[in-house]
Amino acid sequence: MNILTEADRQIYRQELAERLPKKLFDAHVHIWGRNSFPADFQFAPRACANRFGGEFPLALWRKTMQELLPEQHVGLLCFGFPNDAADRGIVPEVSGADEFASVLVSPADPVELLAKRLADSAAVGVKPYLNYAAAHYRKRASDVEVFDMLTESQLELLNDAGLAVTLHIPRLARFADPLNQRQMLALCQRYPRISFIFAHIGRAYFMRNILESNLEELAGCPNAFFDTAMVNHVDILKYTFDHFPAERILFGSDAPIALLRGKSIEVNHQYVYLMGEDYDVGTAIRDTEHAVEFTTFFYEQLRAILEAVPEKSLEDVFYHNAVNLFRSIVQK
Ligand SMILES: [Zn+2]
Repeated sequence: MNILTEADRQIYRQELAERLPKKLFDAHVHIWGRNSFPADFQFAPRACANRFGGEFPLALWRKTMQELLPEQHVGLLCFGFPNDAADRGIVPEVSGADEFASVLVSPADPVELLAKRLADSAAVGVKPYLNYAAAHYRKRASDVEVFDMLTESQLELLNDAGLAVTLHIPRLARFADPLNQRQMLALCQRYPRISFIFAHIGRAYFMRNILESNLEELAGCPNAFFDTAMVNHVDILKYTFDHFPAERILFGSDAPIALLRGKSIEVNHQYVYLMGEDYDVGTAIRDTEHAVEFTTFFYEQLRAILEAVPEKSLEDVFYHNAVNLFRSIVQK
């Protein structure tokens, strides 16, 4: 199943191949097989999870990376697809020196069960998600708070073991939300041995959201990290590098979603996904008339990071920051 067009390959040759380091690490990849879901389970017809036939196993990810980045070696941190119906006991079976996995977790999961899943899979951390917290606390997704994502006993377990949490922050105002900001800071301070990787740069996909964030306050927490998944906004990335230590920023893509054709753009203090393919991703405008020719979100993200990252931090952001972090966790 080829993804790239000849026009995409030209982007790689002209803009990416020589500027990217030879080793990349993608800190935000969803990996799952059909066996993670009940036999009769089906994603909604336009769900982006259907792009590769309802699954995205490691072998397909490896093949895809060879196609998208033929001159690079790529490592990853991966976790399952955080759907309510997914079996959270199934963790991607990574191998190799720079492949790591995290366990999907709900606040409903007893701490003993979580401990067993972590030990059995040799995972470096967990991936909570707001739908799990919403279901467990019977809240609307928009009412879920950062503190709802993990229970205190789960957090204590993770802190004792010194593991990582990839956290997709909730609430409509995202990184500009004062309650989110207080709770993000409180988690970092209360659980100093957990590495908190706030996904999607705190979901700040438009400028005002990051300008009203507490990025600089979090810069003071040595265990606060950000991944760049789905952020292709150059000014947001530049602002982040200007106000937060580059050694705690990790490249992440959100594959396989990032393998779709599209681009996220800012419109009037909001953002929208312009979609070149007929799939649902958050707030989307679909280019059904094919007014423009899109490339993948993945390439758009690489373009934006290459433009924003300080030259001296390029290899660290694209590879070493993440590998050093996850290797240090494995050695604990
Ligand atoms: Zn994701």
